[in-house]
Amino acid sequence: MEPLTAKEILTILRAADQIIAMGGRTQLVKILKGSKEKRVLELGLDTNPAYGSFSTETMAEILKKVDWMIDYDFLELHFQGKLPTIVFTDRGWALESDQRADEFLQEWVEWLSDNQSELDMGYLKDRNRDMILLFLDKVRETGNPRFIPFLEAWKDIEYKKVRAAIQTVIEALKNNEPVDKVAIDERKSILQQYLKGSPPQDLRLKCWECSERFTFTVGEQRFYKEKGFSMPNRCEKCRERRRFGQMIDEF
Ligand SMILES: [Zn+2]
Repeated sequence: MEPLTAKEILTILRAADQIIAMGGRTQLVKILKGSKEKRVLELGLDTNPAYGSFSTETMAEILKKVDWMIDYDFLELHFQGKLPTIVFTDRGWALESDQRADEFLQEWVEWLSDNQSELDMGYLKDRNRDMILLFLDKVRETGNPRFIPFLEAWKDIEYKKVRAAIQTVIEALKNNEPVDKVAIDERKSILQQYLKGSPPQDLRLKCWECSERFTFTVGEQRFYKEKGFSMPNRCEKCRERRRFGQMIDEF
């Protein structure tokens, strides 16, 4: 399979964001497909910016892309009971939080051009702290003092730690402090690296029983992941011997 483009990767991450630890692969596919299914609409998944992004593709094709995202370490399956739900890997979350922070900034830019004066900042509260701090970095990096009223309004409703971070950004914008271009470039280059994903590889494992090394193939790894099994402790031979032994016991 062709590697996904950066745009596809970010689109899938954006879609996944809304169902993290709640929905599984199929639900993610439905968002990307733009499914009109009742359950999808009830959950408001049609409001996701990535909703219907892959509407011209079949569900099977989209599922392949979602599985590629799991294979390449952007997403993983987390088992709560028997139901596997989608969660971000560290790589996936780094990319998604950056994209969300950009989205928030873009919204503020639009507010500026609309001369938005009713500032209800409640939507920023209780969000992931790292993402919020990243958003603040990005606000600061604009060097635009017109954001100060937004920051002031936001500061009023925040908890202590975030309030302090907001105040720092207000000061920086007021005093026209220089922007750290090196840090920005560094962040961008790390994200570019992350976008390449980590290709799945066969693993060499050691059998608990006979101590022989055996290969845990990419295909087997995927099967185990989808079933929520943990890594095998025994080689194929020892596994078979155990199965055979159990059968004899049963007779
Ligand atoms: Zn063995």
